[in-house]
Amino acid sequence: MEEESQDGIELEIREHTDADYFPEECPFCGGQDIRRHTYKMREIQDLGSPMICRRIYYERVYFICKRCKKIFNIEHPLIPGGFRYMPSVIEYALSRILDEGDLIRRVTRDLNKLHLVKVSLATVEKWVNQYGKKGKIDMDFSEEKPPKGFSGYISIDGTFKSVTTKKNDQKMD
Ligand SMILES: [Zn+2]
Repeated sequence: MEEESQDGIELEIREHTDADYFPEECPFCGGQDIRRHTYKMREIQDLGSPMICRRIYYERVYFICKRCKKIFNIEHPLIPGGFRYMPSVIEYALSRILDEGDLIRRVTRDLNKLHLVKVSLATVEKWVNQYGKKGKIDMDFSEEKPPKGFSGYISIDGTFKSVTTKKNDQKMD
């Protein structure tokens, strides 16, 4: 999908949805009657260029198992952890700051002006502090609360990533 705005900047939108990876069975009880429960749309910023603004429209789907009534979601392979920025944006910033020695202020300005990513200095500083030393990008669900009754989420190969269980629900395998 492509649109052109008045200043000649092209808006390039890609759409992704968890529904493309519809779970075949419930990770809790193995039941196969899985339905969509609810969803959240989010816009994720991707690394663009001076004339191309890239955005991802991502539908995060919460599924429900009709048998055990548990609510869960999946980890989308292209959108790990539900970031507001694509991992490539963060990797780009970290590489310039940590490997090339560029100033955080300079990189933030370039992200905004040259790559059309709307990001604040504070956020880029946060990336450096958060991911810089570890050298990898971790999950970050901090900005989104799962729906009531949320039981956990799974990766697309079906293994558990994390799960919050209640009493009596300790059976995981
Ligand atoms: Zn179930």
